[in-house]
Amino acid sequence: MDNVRVRFAPSPTGYLHIGGLRTAVYNYLYARQHNGKFLLRIEDTDRTRFVEGAIENLIRSLTWAGLEIDEGVMMENGEVVEKGDCGPYIQSKRLDIYKKYVDQLLESGHAYYCFCTKERLDNLREEQKIKGKVPRYDGLCRGVSMEEAKKRIANGEDYVVRLKLPHDRDISFEDEARGTITINSNEMDDQVLMKSDGFPTYHMAVVVDDHLMGITHIIRGEEWLPSTPKHVYLYEALGWEVPTYIHLPGVLNSDHKKLSKRQGDVSVEDFRGHGYLPEGLVNYLALVGWSPEDNQEIFSMDELIKAFDTKRIAKTGGVFDVKKLDWVNSHYMKELSADELLDMAMPYIEKAGLFTKEDVEKNPEHYRVLMETIQDGLDRLEQVPEACGFLYDDYEVTEEAALEQLKSESAPKVIEGLQEILGEMDEITLEEAGKLMKQVQKISGVKGKNLYMPARAAMTGNVHGPELSNIIYLLGKDEILKRLEKAKSYFA
Ligand code: GLU
Repeated sequence: MDNVRVRFAPSPTGYLHIGGLRTAVYNYLYARQHNGKFLLRIEDTDRTRFVEGAIENLIRSLTWAGLEIDEGVMMENGEVVEKGDCGPYIQSKRLDIYKKYVDQLLESGHAYYCFCTKERLDNLREEQKIKGKVPRYDGLCRGVSMEEAKKRIANGEDYVVRLKLPHDRDISFEDEARGTITINSNEMDDQVLMKSDGFPTYHMAVVVDDHLMGITHIIRGEEWLPSTPKHVYLYEALGWEVPTYIHLPGVLNSDHKKLSKRQGDVSVEDFRGHGYLPEGLVNYLALVGWSPEDNQEIFSMDELIKAFDTKRIAKTGGVFDVKKLDWVNSHYMKELSADELLDMAMPYIEKAGLFTKEDVEKNPEHYRVLMETIQDGLDRLEQVPEACGFLYDDYEVTEEAALEQLKSESAPKVIEGLQEILGEMDEITLEEAGKLMKQVQKISGVKGKNLYMPARAAMTGNVHGPELSNIIYLLGKDEILKRLEKAKSYFA
């Protein structure tokens, strides 16, 4: 397919919803798969929803997720800039463009001025509701002639411009994920195209922009599906070619309701804050609402680009499953080098007050081993401080099982053996740590579980945990001796 151009067109409401990120991801995958362009357009015609700094936030979240913007709004040296031949890409800067096309629709008879007051419209809606009808504009101002309308406008009356839909006409379009969709115009409302403040509505702006920006495929959430027939009719009225539509199923919570902010984390920032990696979040989100032909679940961005298929987009909502996200993310956590992990986890570590960058600079080997030691059990970065806890927590036997180990018959022999050997050593190197338990085995005569379990319980207060030789190295001689002394108080 030639010249594929897709866009992500969020409203700057302050944060990027993960459902929005998924829409952006699908657009991005489609663009890359077809060597096309991925545009970012800002839909800010609803000024009441505008939030300061929201555009920067959106771009930061997209960039973090690895979605490179080819055209439209982007950031350069910390500034929001616009790049491309179809600008401006921020709708509030395009008002004159919308006005031109609204005028064209008025002239061609596809739109009309409407002077109905809010009060009249409210009453109308109430009446319709009471009669059990779907609230819809009754078309009163369709009868106002152009001449009269111009006079009323000159007299300072407030007005909007509405789309004049044909009577009883089937409007059809193809949705690549859902097939042919047909709606009769009698089921539709004479949509407001331009509001009384001179701003276009979303419906007008989206059609004008998608056409002028050469958008070939519209990949967006299914909440826009009911609006699409209006858009399709607008394309026809303006004499433009209709793009291809692909509507995406919702991202749902476990109750199968739309994932909403009230229930907790929904923004990309929230998930980033919990220490999900962009690769993990994008990989998982791609699978909410789309599935590959085989059962593959771990996908790099390049693999997603190859495998993504709009025909395999689900028709019903996908449940956002945090456990599954954790599982996918843990895969990417394991792929990090120890240095990368340390670097990324540093903000969490410093916040928890465990150690500082300066500490790391003084003894990089120690912290590298620490990361290698804990890495396998992690789902996300925010778990790093807790996973390092065995080094910093005051030693305490917390687990029933550990207590049992220290009361076992072999415990005193093991602890004494450890004390003896450590007493003769200077600081323990990683290599020495690897051999220590074998030495204890020799002098205590205890081996296997009877050796390792009491040793672990004494050093960590726990029966599970990372590789014991790493723990020995990380704790160091003095701390181990301290802990062994304490462990003795638990002996039978
Ligand atoms: N501005 C709309 C939104 O916030 C975009 C809808 C569309 O992609 O057409 O979801």
